[in-house]
Amino acid sequence: MADVSLYWFRDDLRLADLPGLAAAAEAGPVVPVFIRDPDLGGEWSPGGASRWWLHHSLVALQTSLADQGIDLTLRSGATAEVLAELASEVGAERVYCSRHYQPWSETLEKSVLDRLSTIDATLKRYPGTLLFEPEDVATGGGTPFKVFTPFWRACNRRPEPHYPLPPPTLTGHGKTPRSEDITDWELTPSLPNWASGWNDLWQPGQLGAQEALARFLNDHVPDYGDGRDIPSEPNTSRLSPYLRYGNISPRQVWHAAQSAKREQADAVGSIDKFLSEIGWREFCYHLLFHFPTMPDEAFNPKFSFFPWADNAERLAAWQTGQTGYPIVDAGMRELWQTGFMHNRVRMVVASFLTKHLLLNWRQGEAWFWDCLLDADLASNACGWQWVGGSGADASPYFRIFNPIAQGEKFDKTGGYTRRWVPEIAGLPDQYLHKPWEAPADVLAEAGVALGETYPSPMVDHKTAREAALEAYATLKALA
Ligand SMILES: Cc1cc2nc3c(=O)[nH]c(=O)nc-3n(C[C@H](O)[C@H](O)[C@H](O)COP(=O)(O)OP(=O)(O)OC[C@H]3O[C@@H](n4cnc5c(N)ncnc54)[C@H](O)[C@@H]3O)c2cc1C
Repeated sequence: MADVSLYWFRDDLRLADLPGLAAAAEAGPVVPVFIRDPDLGGEWSPGGASRWWLHHSLVALQTSLADQGIDLTLRSGATAEVLAELASEVGAERVYCSRHYQPWSETLEKSVLDRLSTIDATLKRYPGTLLFEPEDVATGGGTPFKVFTPFWRACNRRPEPHYPLPPPTLTGHGKTPRSEDITDWELTPSLPNWASGWNDLWQPGQLGAQEALARFLNDHVPDYGDGRDIPSEPNTSRLSPYLRYGNISPRQVWHAAQSAKREQADAVGSIDKFLSEIGWREFCYHLLFHFPTMPDEAFNPKFSFFPWADNAERLAAWQTGQTGYPIVDAGMRELWQTGFMHNRVRMVVASFLTKHLLLNWRQGEAWFWDCLLDADLASNACGWQWVGGSGADASPYFRIFNPIAQGEKFDKTGGYTRRWVPEIAGLPDQYLHKPWEAPADVLAEAGVALGETYPSPMVDHKTAREAALEAYATLKALA
């Protein structure tokens, strides 16, 4: 059939505001394909939790395409080969896709282009996953930004991101190509099914994304400015997994937020704060694009000499939420049970790992990679390096979060901690974040036996802080 083309879905699993898909639809019939390439990304291929999101996003995409009478073709194999085979099968001369920014993306896209050229076909790559292309934002000297505030100021001086595109009307190809069955890909866990409750918590796909955005902008955004640091309150958008898999585009978020600003004059400050967090996502991608070793190497090279500890027991206690510091344990258990952790608590647990336990930020990065539904190469690496002190525009290493004070400040009435650490829920607020200071009768009344029903703190805060500062001092001595 003349003019048929492929649309190669990647981390852009939606139909609306997808410039490449819109262009393909305009040109003629479209065969949409998603490829499971086992070699792609190496150690950064999707972790357990985000595979669950991927599975459900693909199912949702299949449903949205089926509404237009179109099948999503699923194939496994080396991306360039699969695309060339499928293009030959259906007689497509063009493959459309969204541009990606992972360290391997340029090489992959080049290999696809080269392989397609052997069958007289071509690759057409479109923007769609960021508000601003990384090379379009630069310092006055033409170099990449390394500091967020001037970066975001420069972004805001650029022309506004264009209005989101509606979902295109798609025309199918006469013959449906062979497709693999998504259940054979085993993207969801089975033995055991640790994600069994997640269907009640999340609705992956473009519909769920639009609902989450509307819920946030209609009901919660006025509280975002002051309340975004309170983990027990539903004040943040929880859009991160949707953005990670492109169930929603940042442009859709941007324009919905702009229109909320026009309708909710009192919430303008909060909405701008929210947009600046979307700006952090852009900044992380800007850094990843210009400094592709960011997920694997300390941005500040001095940190490659940091005397990290090697301690599997400590790591396991942190991973399983058994450190004896309630706010840290609450966060790690929220992560394990829901695939998500509130941003404030991510900072607290990351600081605890790198500073109180002196464990390498890369171990935390790897655990988050496996456990987070929103596990994102740019934001995860950026977050870990920011907290760990080695990143661009990082929080200084010597700024060490006190997990007791963080709990008392951001979970004052204990709603978050009591939810995730129920074995200490009976403690009064005064002792909730430091159970070891509670008198014996208070512990007994709350049913807490430290070291038995809940761990004693695995390190002493003051001693651990001093050890961290001492370790940091070894770096200061380096030129
Ligand atoms: C150690 C550490 C690891 C992190 N790993 C990830 C990760 O793998 N994936 C991820 O999406 N975010 C990561 N973050 C950033 C942040 O914690 C989450 O984006 C945020 O908690 C998601 O919740 P939300 O959607 O309710 O955020 P909101 O506050 O509603 O923000 C809206 C959107 O802005 C973006 N955003 C917000 N804060 C940040 C930030 N600090 N950096 C980059 N983007 C941000 C997200 O896309 C988010 O969905 C990490 C932060 C830390 C400290």
